[in-house]
Amino acid sequence: MGHPVPVTLSNPQTPPRAPGPLRTVTGKRLRAADLLLADRGQVFRALFLSAPIGKAVVDVDGRMLVVNPAFCTLTGRSADDLVGRHLDLLSHPDDVPLEDLALEPTPGRPLIDPQLEIVGERRLQRADGETLWVHQSREVVRRTTGEPHFVLLSLVDVTDRRRAEEDLVLRTFTDPLTGLPNRRALTERLQHALAVSRRRGTTVGVLHLDLDRFTAVNDSLGHEGGDQLLCQVADRLRWSTRVEDMAVRFGADEFLVLAEEVEDVDALRSLADRLLGVLDEPFQVHDREVTLSASVGVTLGCDLAPEALLRQAHSALARAKASGGRGRIEVHDEALTDGDIDQLQLETDLRRAVEANELRLFYQPIVALSDERLLGYEALIRWQHPTRGLLPPGAFLSAAEDNRLTSRLGEWVLYRACRDAADWDDNLRVHVNISARHLAEPGFADLVRDALADSGLAAHRLELEITESTALFAAEATLQSVGAVTESGVTLALDDFGTGYSAISALHRLPIHTLKIDRSFVADVVAEPATAALVQGLLQLGAGMGLQVIAEGIEDGDQARWLLDHGCAMAQGYAFGRPAPLPARDLGVVSAPADLTAPGEPAEPASTQQPAEDTDDGGADPR
Ligand code: C2E
Ligand code: MG
Ligand code: MG
Repeated sequence: MGHPVPVTLSNPQTPPRAPGPLRTVTGKRLRAADLLLADRGQVFRALFLSAPIGKAVVDVDGRMLVVNPAFCTLTGRSADDLVGRHLDLLSHPDDVPLEDLALEPTPGRPLIDPQLEIVGERRLQRADGETLWVHQSREVVRRTTGEPHFVLLSLVDVTDRRRAEEDLVLRTFTDPLTGLPNRRALTERLQHALAVSRRRGTTVGVLHLDLDRFTAVNDSLGHEGGDQLLCQVADRLRWSTRVEDMAVRFGADEFLVLAEEVEDVDALRSLADRLLGVLDEPFQVHDREVTLSASVGVTLGCDLAPEALLRQAHSALARAKASGGRGRIEVHDEALTDGDIDQLQLETDLRRAVEANELRLFYQPIVALSDERLLGYEALIRWQHPTRGLLPPGAFLSAAEDNRLTSRLGEWVLYRACRDAADWDDNLRVHVNISARHLAEPGFADLVRDALADSGLAAHRLELEITESTALFAAEATLQSVGAVTESGVTLALDDFGTGYSAISALHRLPIHTLKIDRSFVADVVAEPATAALVQGLLQLGAGMGLQVIAEGIEDGDQARWLLDHGCAMAQGYAFGRPAPLPARDLGVVSAPADLTAPGEPAEPASTQQPAEDTDDGGADPR
């Protein structure tokens, strides 16, 4: 605070004159001017110190020389704290440093400190850290030469008005319940984003989310509970979008995410997928756990009006809702090819499939060729799709490879296969296919260890099947993780051997235990001498390297005999059993499902809509 300074307004040396009726107005004025000239020091002091406006006399370099009490009150600092210090002391830390804006001295224009150049509203910081808005004005006091001598600075506090204005703007552009920007803010931002995208040739993405069955949730939680839930949804969306994107509350239970500079539909798709993912976790409202899902309409554009883009997103959302399902993503048609649309839907559905318990593992027997003794099974994934029936991996695995589903699916398969195998005879092994992408993820070795621990399956009973390309492109980290897995006793098989270019080099890079000769060779082995020579070579290679060899896809007795005659010890194929589900445990089957051990029998009950490949009667008895 400033120190109160005694101020005397009348001059004690000037004797008071008695006012008289004869004195003219002009005479009075002259007398007042005389007074001012005679006592200007005193009058200045009075005006300066008692002014209700913050005032400071500052030298041209911006150093405060004298401050009045109002200046001290305004800035929250004492005169001692201020006098002799530079005006920078009062600057707001978030503003651009003014020295960066300093003007070069130009001839005929003497330089004063940039702080003193400002005339108008500016932001300052009080000693207590509070932001202060002032209107700054100045009066330059010059020497007789015309050069600035010092500057009389005035600061008028306009904080209240500024706050009121800011508050108004905030209320105009913010949803009062969730604190997210509202529809009006979106329109402004969208206009800007589209203008930028036109200039830069980029695209803007819009995702329109609508919570599924929110009315029912709202009814059961009550109005206040529903509000709480909406706030939590808003928070999750806010934290899951990039800084340059914007999450908006668009209506009662509708949200919109504006994503700038989106590369393509795939990028938008993964954003939609991620947003649905963050809503997956249950919400906590009034000590109750609430699960939610949302439907999403997505679109992408650059050279069109904001309303048009919003309409596209809305119509895509309407389609997602109309389908009756929950957690669906629909993309505006023009943004996508048909293939894209199918793929997107597949991903969305597959994501749900894990939770909805729609995935199945089928098991195909692996046998000893000499006596058809059962050695184990290969686990092969299937999807019992609610409308499309039983789908083979070829129909959906590529969708999982494109996004974060890979590890989720891989984890499910590994746990399920280990648990199932733990119930079989101890001499039976289980083969599990591992995707390249999953293998490369950090923590893969831990996952295998945990799946074994969870099921109690001995490590030596598990074999992981990887494909050649996986092996060739295996990065150093992958090699380490593979190393950790195989050290525990788990073995590795090189699947579809011979179909890639990397077969031999892969054998040197990885600790391979088994080669699986691809079924495309086996198919021609009897009829095609060239293929026969090749397969012979592969068998010799395996034997030479001390590896176990399994021939895949044996469909008849001739193939089986040929392979046995040429030194192949193990086999898999329709001839020995098709992939089939394990019978229910209460049927009392612990080792091999009966229909798997009986070669040539259809593996599937007709009702499961087994794909043609699995139900064909291609499994003739090799004997
Ligand atoms: P794969 O690992 O080479 O599996 C063998 C495939 O050949 C299986 O196809 C099997 O049904 C089929 N097959 C077996 N014997 C015969 C036969 O005698 N004749 C004919 N024509 N086909 C036969 P499926 O089940 O459709 O699996 C295809 C591929 O999908 C698998 O090839 C594997 O690479 C992949 N896959 C399957 N399950 C999984 C999984 O859980 N995870 C991963 N990452 N991939 C999987
Ligand atoms: Mg395999
Ligand atoms: Mg294979």
